[in-house]
Amino acid sequence: MNRLNVISHTLVLLLLSCMAFIHSLAHAKSQTQQISKHILFFKQPSEYRFYDSNQVLVQGDKCALLYDASGNFSAVEGTVEYLKTTLKTPLCYVVASHFHDDHLLGIAVVQAHFKDAKLIVHQQLAKEFDYFQQAFTDKLDSYQQSIELSYQRLAEQPASQRALWQDKLSLAKTRLLRWREYKLYPPALTVENTLTLDLGGYPISINAYNAHTRADLMLLAKHDRTLLGGDIVDYLPYPGHGDLSNWVNVLEQLINSKTIDVILPGHGNALTPNDLKQPAAFLKAILSHGYSQPEQDLQQLQQSFPEQFEHHYSQDEPAKKAYPLFLQAGLKRTKQSK
Ligand SMILES: [Zn+2]
Repeated sequence: MNRLNVISHTLVLLLLSCMAFIHSLAHAKSQTQQISKHILFFKQPSEYRFYDSNQVLVQGDKCALLYDASGNFSAVEGTVEYLKTTLKTPLCYVVASHFHDDHLLGIAVVQAHFKDAKLIVHQQLAKEFDYFQQAFTDKLDSYQQSIELSYQRLAEQPASQRALWQDKLSLAKTRLLRWREYKLYPPALTVENTLTLDLGGYPISINAYNAHTRADLMLLAKHDRTLLGGDIVDYLPYPGHGDLSNWVNVLEQLINSKTIDVILPGHGNALTPNDLKQPAAFLKAILSHGYSQPEQDLQQLQQSFPEQFEHHYSQDEPAKKAYPLFLQAGLKRTKQSK
């Protein structure tokens, strides 16, 4: 995978994640939705759905599995507490759907509390794992900078607010010190094509894709006809990485699937296969628009892009903000991959 892309993606999301950090002190917790007896969906509140990712817990008779961990480490600590008090089986596995910060880095927090949980990643991601270990440290460094900056700005706060901010910042400092003890430990299992596991009377399969990124994993829980798709199946997809043509093919296979009823995305609400017609159409439009107007620069391409998508994706403020960023990233991607 292209490390530069990873960095540019991080920059694109930097504004979002800085805000998320400030919010994280008083962040609304993810909502849980029981999909079946075996599947629990931790869904981000709608207004934060592009700042952070959903997670999914899958439980069999012998083992539990967590799919993804949020990029908000204090939220992951909340999830860890929840797991410690409710799990009736060991947490045997943690799966990273792909390498983006808001899916992978919080796994360090899970690993600190569930030392026997085996991390499962795409084989390609495993090859560059040291890079993502560094990304975890870099994220903590950026938190430290935010805290220091906030201390410097404390004097600018109205006197009535200062004590409140002081408390928030000292809490943030305590958390940061704790997180400095954590480490993103390397994967125990990697997936090149398919890995099948039995969680105890509950078989699952984990499959490798080159779609949203070059190292995606989706998980099929066939007994519940449910797919944990990560960002491959987001309703408004982020197309700045990966292989867009291949991604469209994957979505079309899912749309026509006879074995899946429920699709749990990395961001946003649970979907049905039919709902994937929208992201498939968006990605197809990006591909054809980018390729058919090679003379246009990025700004021109964005301005001439079919307006129907902007209308469709303007259903609320978070989507209105994310849409132009995501569209631009996708159009840029088509220019890069020519
Ligand atoms: Zn992603």
